[in-house]
Amino acid sequence: MKEKDRYEEFLCRGCGASLKNSTTMRRKDTPYHICKTCGTAQCIYKDLKDLVTSNNASEDRNDDHQMEERFSRMEKYSGYAKLVMDYGCGNGQLAGYISSHGVPCFAIDTHNNSIIEHIPDGCICSISMVEVIEHLIDPEATIQTLSRLLRKGGTIYLETSTIDALLRFGEHDYIDPNIGHITILSQFALCKISENSSLDLEVINPTSFIMRKPSE
Ligand SMILES: [Zn+2]
Repeated sequence: MKEKDRYEEFLCRGCGASLKNSTTMRRKDTPYHICKTCGTAQCIYKDLKDLVTSNNASEDRNDDHQMEERFSRMEKYSGYAKLVMDYGCGNGQLAGYISSHGVPCFAIDTHNNSIIEHIPDGCICSISMVEVIEHLIDPEATIQTLSRLLRKGGTIYLETSTIDALLRFGEHDYIDPNIGHITILSQFALCKISENSSLDLEVINPTSFIMRKPSE
């Protein structure tokens, strides 16, 4: 199949609409398809194994001040959590920070992702997912899995730069295949993914969100 045909059959990772006739922008010689329905920018790699992701980060990416802000947002919007899972933990910096503040937290990344299959439904209070969703090929499938693990009223604390925020602040460098940013969702798409995963989306700020599982 010619590359062009493959793209035309592709469905948007944000909203499921066809990407046929979508507009394209090139970043580092890689085409990103912009969904006409939801605005999500997404690139299709021939070989996703070539991707470099922040999961490979070996050094701490965030200072203590950022960790503190993140943790206080999680506490504010998620309430007191008895069990947190940091999904896409990288080197485990955030999970370590949360644990050191007395909240049991375990960390998941590609090396131990299969643990998720053994976690019973509805037992996790809060999931953090910081700068992870933009690396995913199927963000909705991941959020649906995480939603299943949450107890009623539980939350996913999610940070990502949406396409809306990037365009507003002119930060186009974020759209970069070399750092594994393959799916830049729009806020509309985040809303749609939440809805399809039986979660309610709350916007904290342009780059921080809560997905909440209804209490009833
Ligand atoms: Zn879309």
